[in-house]
Parts: sequence; structure tokens; C-alpha cells
Amino acid sequence: MSFGRRTFIKSVGAVSAAAAIPVISCNSNRARAIIGNGKMKLSFRPYDLLLSHTFTVAGFSRDTTPVVLSEIEYEGFTGYGEASMPPYLGESQKSVMQFLQKLDLEQFHDPFMLDDILSYVDSIDDGNRAAKACVDIALHDLIGKLLNQPLYKLWGINPQNTPMTSYTIGIDTPEVVKLKTEEADRFKVLKVKLGGGNDKEMINTVRSVTDVPLYIDVNQGWKDKQEALDMVYWLKEQGIVFIEQPLPKTAVDDTAWLTENSPLPIIADEAFQRLGDIAAFKGVYSGINIKLMKSTGLREAHKMITVARALDMKVMIGCMTETSCAVSAASQLSPLVDWADLDGNLLISNDIYEGVKVVDGKVTLNDLPGIGIKKLKI
Ligand SMILES: [Mg+2]
Repeated sequence: MSFGRRTFIKSVGAVSAAAAIPVISCNSNRARAIIGNGKMKLSFRPYDLLLSHTFTVAGFSRDTTPVVLSEIEYEGFTGYGEASMPPYLGESQKSVMQFLQKLDLEQFHDPFMLDDILSYVDSIDDGNRAAKACVDIALHDLIGKLLNQPLYKLWGINPQNTPMTSYTIGIDTPEVVKLKTEEADRFKVLKVKLGGGNDKEMINTVRSVTDVPLYIDVNQGWKDKQEALDMVYWLKEQGIVFIEQPLPKTAVDDTAWLTENSPLPIIADEAFQRLGDIAAFKGVYSGINIKLMKSTGLREAHKMITVARALDMKVMIGCMTETSCAVSAASQLSPLVDWADLDGNLLISNDIYEGVKVVDGKVTLNDLPGIGIKKLKI
């Protein structure tokens, strides 16, 4: 080795060492945490979300949504998570807290071991998807904070490519539907719930106010495949983009027939939950609606997008009624999807976080680390 090269290597080493010292002394907690010698402490509490409007879809109405808010503390950093439990999914605040009580995260010393930690969480019991999501979201938020980067950046996702989000108009009387549609004038696309027996009236009322593109969610409300197809053809003339879960989730053959004959994409929601369900839906549905509360969180949702793309299926990302915590988490993946329905935090009056915003109808990511939220002082 020449003297020049040796000197160069020595000086590179000196510069690296010099650069490393201030990083450690500036933020020794972060540096120590990244090395992975700390202890993770999970805490959680129930919280009831108050809906701004009574929410009606095919099958039921409600004014509140129960959630559980979680925190994972590690070396002075805190990751936030959330489980949301709309009643039809079968989880409750009680079941989520019972599940979380079974977990021993203190056995893990390195929060970056996501595969190990989340595989362990998944193995504790079947189901409990929202409970698992509230650990997954908090863990992802934590690692983003430890690295001081938003998740989209860690995943190499361009934040400029976020989609428009739809805003949901529930089933109601023409007077209320008209009012809600008028109030939603800052959104560039609306999602209209059908299946309540007044479908044409709902659409005609919305169309009396706005001509923005509409997503349709039937929530399994149609029962007959031929009637469903006739309605899809009528809807196509009304500026509709796609139809979500038109038939009962058990009506697999009828749905495959409808998808084959439909002029609009048919999207699965209630019919599927997790990664392993997707392959069987190729040919039955045109695409899938991924939600963190079904997928057990971000880690599996990200994989689901990849698998659905490989199967040439459309991808939508949605949410339950949630605070800005879970909605901001899902938004980190939103540049990868065709359509987003990320309005859950906008439907409640007692959010305790500030996070992703909707600007000119578009999901707009910020540069805060992790899932991109701040806890509000309430
Ligand atoms: Mg849906």
C-alpha cells in the first residue's frame, strides 16, 4: 500500500470517528436505543371516539366507536399505536386489553427486530387483528422516531405520490345526505354508502350537489347478482369509479360472476382480512381494500400491497373510525395504492393526535418521524 493510500484510509477513519462522537454525545439516548440494549414497555388504555354525525351503513347505525390507544416506551422514546373496534368485527376494548395483557415485550431488547417481535405477537392467539395492529403501529412509530425519519422515507416511498382521499357519506334521508355532501365540498372524491334500499335516491341527491367522482360501498347490502349488475350499469352512468363489497362475503361464485360482467372494478372489503386471503380472490374481485385493523398493522399491509400488485389487482387503503394515529400510519403507505379512503379521523370530534392532513382533497404527509403524529395536550 502506498503512503498516500494509507494516509487517506487513516484520515477517513479519523473523520468517521470524529463524526461519530458528536452523534453519540448529542443524543446518547437515541444512539444507545439504536444499538438495541433497552427495554420496551407497552401501555394502553380504552378511549371512546365521538362521531360528529350518526353513521349509518347497510345493516346498522352508531354514534361512538370504541378504541384502545397504546404506547411503547423505549429509552426515552415513545411510539403511539391504536386499535379501533367497530362492533361488526368482533373485537372490543375488553378483548383488545386482554390480548395486550398477555404480551411480554420486555423480552425483546431491540425494537428493530420487527419480524421477531410481530411474529411473536401474532402467535399469541388467532384473530385479535386490531389488537395486533395497535402493537404494530406503535412499534413502527417507535423505530421511525429512533431513526428520526418518517416511515415513508424508510420504505423509499415518494410522499408526493399520495392519492386523493374520499370522504364518506352514510345512508340517510335526502335532506341529511344533501347537507353532508355540501359540507364535504373540500373533497375531490366522495364515498357513498349504498345498500339501504334507497340507492338511486342517495346517488341522485349527491349528484344534485356535486359532480366529483364517487366510490360506492355497499357493505354486502345487495343480495341478487342480476339486480346488482343492473345497478352497476346504472351507476356507471353516474360517474362512479368502483363498487366495494356489493354482495355478501360468502357469495363467492356470484361475486366472481359480477366481477366478470361488471363494467366497473369490484373491490373486496368485508370478504378478506389478511395477506393469506388475497391469492384466492384473484378472479373473484378486481381489487382489495386494505385496512390496518384487518391486516394486523403496517408490516403485513405493506406485504399485501406487493402481493396484490403481483396478482395484477387494484389496491385501495381504507380505515375504520380512528384517531389521527392509525389514519396517519396508513397514510404512510398511501402513495403505493390506487385509491384511498382515509377519512376516519375527520368523522370524529375528540381526536387526541395531530397528524396527516387533507390538503385540496389530497392525503398530505408531513416530515415528522415515525407515523407522523403529535399528541395534542387535551
Ligand atoms: Mg367498506
